[in-house]
Amino acid sequence: MKNSKSIFSNIVWAILILLMLSTVFSFVLGPGKEVARLSISELAAKVNSGEVAKIVVNGEDLSVTLKDGSEAAARKENGLGLTETLNNLGVDQKVLQAVAVEVREESGWRFWVGLLIPTLLPLVIIGVMFWFIFRQAKSGASQAFTFGRSNLRLFGTSRDRVTFKDVAGLKEAKQELEEVVDFLKNPKKYLEIGARIPRGVLLMGLPGTGKTLLARAVAGEAGVPFFHISASEFVEMFVGVGASRTRDAFATAKKAAPSILFIDEIDAVGRERGAGLGGGHDEREQTLNQILVEMDGFERDTRVIVLAATNRPDILDRALLRPGRFDRHVILDLPDLADREDILKIHSRGKALDKGLDLRKVAVRTPGFSGADIANLMNEAAILAARHNQKLISQQNLLESIEKVILGPERRGRVISDKEKKITAYHEAGHALVAASLKDADSVHKVSIISRGSAGGYTLKLPSEDMRLRTKSQFVADLATMFGGYASEKAILGDISTGASNDLKTASDLARKLVTKYGMSEKLGPVTFGKSDELVFLGKEISSEKNYSEKMAAEIDEEVSRVINYAYEMAKKIITSRKNALAAIADALMSRETLEQEDFYGILKPFKLKPLAI
Ligand code: ADP
Ligand code: MG
Ligand code: ZN
Repeated sequence: MKNSKSIFSNIVWAILILLMLSTVFSFVLGPGKEVARLSISELAAKVNSGEVAKIVVNGEDLSVTLKDGSEAAARKENGLGLTETLNNLGVDQKVLQAVAVEVREESGWRFWVGLLIPTLLPLVIIGVMFWFIFRQAKSGASQAFTFGRSNLRLFGTSRDRVTFKDVAGLKEAKQELEEVVDFLKNPKKYLEIGARIPRGVLLMGLPGTGKTLLARAVAGEAGVPFFHISASEFVEMFVGVGASRTRDAFATAKKAAPSILFIDEIDAVGRERGAGLGGGHDEREQTLNQILVEMDGFERDTRVIVLAATNRPDILDRALLRPGRFDRHVILDLPDLADREDILKIHSRGKALDKGLDLRKVAVRTPGFSGADIANLMNEAAILAARHNQKLISQQNLLESIEKVILGPERRGRVISDKEKKITAYHEAGHALVAASLKDADSVHKVSIISRGSAGGYTLKLPSEDMRLRTKSQFVADLATMFGGYASEKAILGDISTGASNDLKTASDLARKLVTKYGMSEKLGPVTFGKSDELVFLGKEISSEKNYSEKMAAEIDEEVSRVINYAYEMAKKIITSRKNALAAIADALMSRETLEQEDFYGILKPFKLKPLAI
């Protein structure tokens, strides 16, 4: 609506301007007064009869003033003088002498205007029209004319400066990057000794491990500008702009050197070339090529360091990782216990915490959390405290937030029938009892029949220490624990509910992994089958995913079901032989809904259960 209106008003404007111009020109060029026109022979007659007082010659035009004061205009023949013309028409020389003849040069500006206006006017009009259209387009979809520009964002002003102090843990990564910082600060030292300056550093780590944060911290430490662009922005809106945006980004960073150009999520363009499905890859490839070209074009002393981040280093094009490009790789691990405590400390800055808060306890309960998860956890706790109108964040707020981050918010509002409650209680009690009975299972931190997210109830079990490796017996204990709910429902209630379906799916997936990926099957031995499952969405993998025979496939299926059966029998044995303990847990759950770690092990104590080995 607004647009069509302004187009209309522009047209009106253009017409008005045209009218104005034509008025001005007709005023300048047009005959000032309407005068009588005489033919040349009429003029000759008038001269002869002595009526003419004065003739002004202006080129071919003649302005005649008669003796009675009136004026007239005439034209003479081309190329002949006035006297000659009149003589030819029989005007007497003497009579002519009585007439004042004045010859005027054709005036300069009139001549030029007369010549130029017809040619220039259309051009001017077209120019004006374009100017209007352009202005309009600019104010409307202003992006349309700047799409070749990169959406670089500049950080590094003193206010939002991030340094290594704001990044907890990641000791090795920081050490690697110290070198980059040092180079940006004292490049001479490196150049004089003939060292080649690092150009590209690739930060690799799971989402939320602090890649973006660490990159900003490098710029903050070195005190140089930090240009941030997400690789997906290179290619977002128009086809064909990726390369020019890349050029622009590098040019901007070079202008501000020493500086850091950070390309976030580089896998969006850096995927191995020729591996994808469907169309639209040329754009990505051209952008990738341009990045490579730009990096190769760095002078030896270009003080721009390109940092890039990815959580999929496995799919990056090898050309990107070649020496001279992103040849330094920094791996960001998930934080361990001490790191998690540090991250908690960093994110409790500026928050009102209860005095007796034990952050270590929170750290213990959050294995597998990334830095971003922990930041989120801290924020959730603050929101929770505010919702309860507390002045300070309490330990309870923090612990509650852990479950919220893992499982989604509690759904206390949902009404459940007594029967449903009993099923859920026995199901969760089954999980918890099996976990508590097996030596290799993780310890139970909490059991609850309050639904959370999509789960009807939950048993929270966490490894007692950070573990990089898990053993086969731990996996089998996990499997048995997963079947605990199913086995308990079946043994005690004589029926199975849909609540167990998710457990069964997770268990089957895990069992299959044990056999095909970890080589933990005794019968099939230490072999892996199939390509790693992360790559399946790349077209290249689809054809080569299954690298074993049909016969082997059948054997794998057999092994998987053998592992599953073993774990299930284990769970069944525990449930049926420890029915009293199971009932005690289920009863406690039905009356109290949630059991914390101490409560849970308190209930089991009188039964004096012996830990079982797998
Ligand atoms: P990534 O880029 O790896 O996905 P980010 O750097 O965006 O992760 O991290 C998200 C947020 O998580 C950060 O803004 C920060 O608040 C928090 N965070 C992550 N790792 C750490 C860490 N090691 N120390 C402090 N905060 C962290
Ligand atoms: Mg990031
Ligand atoms: Zn379950």
